[in-house]
Amino acid sequence: MAGRFIVLLGPPGAGKGTQAAVISKTLQLAHISSGDIFRENLKNETDLGKMAQKYMNAGELVPDDVTIAMISERLSRTDCENGALLDGFPRTPAQAEALAEKLAERGEHIECVPYISVPAEELITRLSGRWTCRENGHVFHAQYNPSKKDGVCDIDGSALYQRDDDKPETVANRIRVYMDQTSPLIEYYKENQLLFEVDGTKSIEKVSELLLQKLNA
Ligand code: ADP
Ligand code: AMP
Repeated sequence: MAGRFIVLLGPPGAGKGTQAAVISKTLQLAHISSGDIFRENLKNETDLGKMAQKYMNAGELVPDDVTIAMISERLSRTDCENGALLDGFPRTPAQAEALAEKLAERGEHIECVPYISVPAEELITRLSGRWTCRENGHVFHAQYNPSKKDGVCDIDGSALYQRDDDKPETVANRIRVYMDQTSPLIEYYKENQLLFEVDGTKSIEKVSELLLQKLNA
């Protein structure tokens, strides 16, 4: 049976991680977040983490070769045998080509690319109010999705923190980098007839419903 490989596309702050948590649980797919893997490496002070840090702090992309190798290794693990939900990867045309090749080598392909669209002004509000959990990267928002207890993750009880790269100056660069390097993937996946767009300005619950409606169809 073919696996389900789904790529969540959208600008930083669109709600990819929030929706990936819901969808991966509902569809029982591994959730692969490249940003979470880099942050885990940073926390554990691995060579990869140390190397990625300067790019992440500046809101720049980690070089393609490093990122592609990291995701290829992750995709080779047994929990991805039946598919995976990719969040934050691919982010460049070279990464998209590499992913297509990797999947083709195992007789697989991308099933579809849900694109969560949100205008830039809203992204700034989303990212500046985002609170992330230290242990497992669960996300909350000071106004839109507050945790029950201030500074504590509802799901695992660990401390919430504000990511360094959610500061306004870094956010502006991340949105620029997205526009320059990642947004061409919208056309790329449209041409491949894999893309469908979901209005990411709706409530978290509504966006999940729209995504699952399509993915279950
Ligand atoms: P991404 O993974 O695309 O960078 P996140 O899932 O981390 O985005 O969401 C960014 C912030 O916006 C978080 O604080 C999250 O709680 C909040 N958020 C996500 N989806 C919505 C939504 N539909 N409406 C309002 N806030 C949202
Ligand atoms: P994210 O958690 O998706 O917002 O990613 C945080 C940061 O990790 C990005 O700003 C990049 O520095 C780095 N990163 C995550 N995914 C990728 C990727 N696919 N390619 C290059 N860099 C990435």
